[in-house]
Amino acid sequence: MDLYEFQARRLLKAEGINLSDAALVKDLKGLEDISIELPVVVKAQVQVGGRGKAGGVKLVSAANRFKSTVKSILGKNIGGHLVESVLIVPARDIVQELYVSIGFDRSAHEYFIMASVDGGVDIEETAKLSPDAIKRHYFSAVDGLELDDVKTFCGSLLDECEFVQDLDKKQRSLIMKNFSTTVYNIWQTYRKYDATLVEVNPLAIVRAGDAALEIEALDAKVSLDDNSRFRQLELFEQLESETEFSSNHNALEKKAKNLDINYVHLGGEVGIIGNGAGLVMSTVDIVALSGETLEAKPANFLDVGGGANTAKMQQSIEIILADENVKSIFVNIFGGLTQCDLVAHGLLDATSDVEIPVVVRFDGNEKESGLKILQESNRSNIFTADNQEEGALLACKMAKEAV
Ligand code: GDP
Ligand code: MN
Repeated sequence: MDLYEFQARRLLKAEGINLSDAALVKDLKGLEDISIELPVVVKAQVQVGGRGKAGGVKLVSAANRFKSTVKSILGKNIGGHLVESVLIVPARDIVQELYVSIGFDRSAHEYFIMASVDGGVDIEETAKLSPDAIKRHYFSAVDGLELDDVKTFCGSLLDECEFVQDLDKKQRSLIMKNFSTTVYNIWQTYRKYDATLVEVNPLAIVRAGDAALEIEALDAKVSLDDNSRFRQLELFEQLESETEFSSNHNALEKKAKNLDINYVHLGGEVGIIGNGAGLVMSTVDIVALSGETLEAKPANFLDVGGGANTAKMQQSIEIILADENVKSIFVNIFGGLTQCDLVAHGLLDATSDVEIPVVVRFDGNEKESGLKILQESNRSNIFTADNQEEGALLACKMAKEAV
């Protein structure tokens, strides 16, 4: 089981590792309760590396940039992962970024500590271009790891760090001590929770307020062994309950699949229904484009497939509305084998209890009679559009008005 950063931080902190307090935020409203002082770092909570390079980690120093920065990261797609929450942490004054990870080498049947004084976002390149900059210490499950082993390893590592070498003796030994203790505590975390990987990058030397130096973990990655679930049951259940925001969507996607409906959650406010994958894809694009200035985004991809009948429409609308974020729906149907007049009847049946605005655009087979049926229904929340652009724009405007 891979943990989110906010969860990994909590486990490491509980083992005594120096980590700042952080606040998890799922929407802009959540920002109101935050008491962390600027400057802060806003961090996308997605289980994928390289967030910094992908624009998912941003420093905010000015109060008037705070909300807009959070807004720009929430809903972003980072390496195929939707950002559904961000972590707000106090920004630190970094003087040196170190890298530390602990894992298990299956071929050597041994644990290892891997560390470098060239940590940070370029660690992968460092590993490729100058592999010598990354040091390893192997140890067996039988021998375990003693604090003294860690001290020796960390000492030889920091000997290669110019910044540390230039410090006065007192500061240098303090950094040495804090660094070794941190690495040792990373191992304690690894063991206690049956991890398969714990990585801290950067583990940073930071300048504290009074010019003193400290070692602080600024990022954390933890994977737990699924085979240890029975030993860590309470922890697993707690971690899972905290990330229900993502598993809800997985459940919806599964439900849709069982009904032969192709649904993908995207995270915005404008629900989308169409027939045919190509048409739905372009509808998602048009909504994204129309909504750009209004800051309305597509909530989902949903392809009803060939038979856009009443039952299918009803199921589709149910799935879309199970996402609380949805504030309007745009239905974009091309009548081929499916006749628009039949879709119109199905749609009216399926939306009899729906309160949010539904914008409909028909084209193709029986377009005119389909539109007429909708218009004559006099349903106050059903709107028709002449073309896709008009429909998408209307749906975006209505989604925003509803907020
Ligand atoms: P990752 O790219 O997914 O590994 O995300 P990280 O949490 O490691 O952040 C990426 C980079 O952002 C770090 O390597 C730092 O250079 C920078 N960063 C993160 N937190 C801070 C901070 O508090 N202060 C400063 N100055 N930079 C930070
Ligand atoms: Mn990192």
